Amino acid sequence: MILGAIEAGGTKMVCAIGDENGKIIDRVSIPTKTPEETMPEIIAYFKDKDVAAIGLACFGPIDLHKDSPTYGYITSTPKTAWLGYDIVGCLKKAFNNIPIGFDTDVNGSLLGEATWGCAKGMTDVIYITIGTGIGGGVMSGGKLLHGMLHPELGHILMRRYPEDSYVGKCPFHKDCFEGLAAGPAIEERWGSKAFDLADRDEVWELESKYIAQAIINYMMTLSPQKIILGGGVMHQEQLFPLIRQKVLEMNAGYIQTKELENIEEYIVPASLNDNQGIMGAIKLAIDAM
Ligand code: ADP
Ligand code: ZN
Repeated sequence: MILGAIEAGGTKMVCAIGDENGKIIDRVSIPTKTPEETMPEIIAYFKDKDVAAIGLACFGPIDLHKDSPTYGYITSTPKTAWLGYDIVGCLKKAFNNIPIGFDTDVNGSLLGEATWGCAKGMTDVIYITIGTGIGGGVMSGGKLLHGMLHPELGHILMRRYPEDSYVGKCPFHKDCFEGLAAGPAIEERWGSKAFDLADRDEVWELESKYIAQAIINYMMTLSPQKIILGGGVMHQEQLFPLIRQKVLEMNAGYIQTKELENIEEYIVPASLNDNQGIMGAIKLAIDAM
C-alpha cells in the first residue's frame, strides 16, 4: 500500500510517499509560496502515485475539530497568504475524497517518534521544536492532545532572568518562551547568527535556563514519560546536559520518579534523523484510513 505524506512548513512543503512501516520511498521539497502557487505543485506530485490516503502535518494554528465548519483550515497564521485557507478541502477535492489525516506539524513529529522512534510504545510524551519559532506536540493517554484548539507550548509565559534585558520577539506576547528562546530571539539578543555563537558559553547557559524552565512547567502539568527536543537550535548539542542539570535543580527533589533518575533517557534529542515529521505524516495517513 502506498501512503502520501506532507510536512507543511512556513518555508517548505515536504511531500513524500511511503509504506505502512514508515519507510519513505520518495520525497520532494516544494517552497511554500501562496496556496495558488504551491497547492498545484503538491497535487501534481501525488497525482499519478495512487496513494490510499494522505497524512498532513501542518503549520498552524489550524482547525482540528471534525465537527467545525472550518475543519481542515489554517486559521490565524501570520503567513497571511494562508490565513483562512481550506488546505484539507483542497486535497480532498483533488484526490476524490481519499482519507486525509490532519494534525499540527509538531504533533506529526511526536507521532513519528511515538510510532517508530525513541518514544515507541509510550503513551505520554512531549515533542518540542526550537527553531524559527517554538512549538510542541503532546500525547496524553496514547492520544494526540487537541483540546480547545491545540496546545501552543511555545507561548507559555516565563519568569524572566534578571540578567536578561532582551525585550523578547513574540509579536503577541513579547517575552513568552518563543519570544525569549527561539532562534531569532537568540540572534537579536546576542547580535549574531545562532550558529556562530556556538562557543559563547553565556548564550547557551541562558538558553538552557529558559528551556529548563519551560520543561519544568510541562513536567508539572502534563507529566510526560519522555521529552523530545528537536529543531535547529537543538543542534547545539551542549544544550542537552545543561538542560538536564537545570531541570533537576529546578525540580528541587519534588517529583521523584524512575524517569528522572535516568534523565539522559528522559530529555532526549529527536531520534529519526529529521524524518520524524514526514514519518509522522505517514502515520496520520494510516490512522485516517
Ligand atoms: P524552522 O523552525 O524554520 O523549521 P529550524 O528548525 O532549522 O527551521 O530553525 C531555524 C532556526 O534555528 C534559526 O533561527 C537558526 O538560527 C537556528 N539554527 C539552525 N541551525 C542551528 C545551529 N546549528 N545552531 C544554532 N541555531 C541553529
Ligand atoms: Zn508568544
